[in-house]
Amino acid sequence: MKLAKNDMVEVIAGNDRGKRGKVLKVMPKANRVIVEGVNFIHRHTKPRRQGDQGGIIEKEAPINSSNVMLVCNKCNRGVRVGTKVLADGTKSRVCSVCGEMIERRS
Ligand SMILES: [Zn+2]
Repeated sequence: MKLAKNDMVEVIAGNDRGKRGKVLKVMPKANRVIVEGVNFIHRHTKPRRQGDQGGIIEKEAPINSSNVMLVCNKCNRGVRVGTKVLADGTKSRVCSVCGEMIERRS
């Protein structure tokens, strides 16, 4: 998976198609990501302990990483990502459209 935490991605399939958000969490084994503001689930909870308030929790649920594309700042849209090996041997992600490097953010 080429996605990393804090990447800006665009959703390309499902109910949230067209939405953009920041990657909050990557789950490489499950090939899933959690994207800020995308794929909200509503869960009704009962109060479990004293002082707990039951109610509805809204929370982002993981989506399949193939349903999102990394956003290239230069192209300003979701793009396919390639890999480029730099002179010092480190790998960098590049936009397959314009060739711009897409840095990981921390
Ligand atoms: Zn680009």
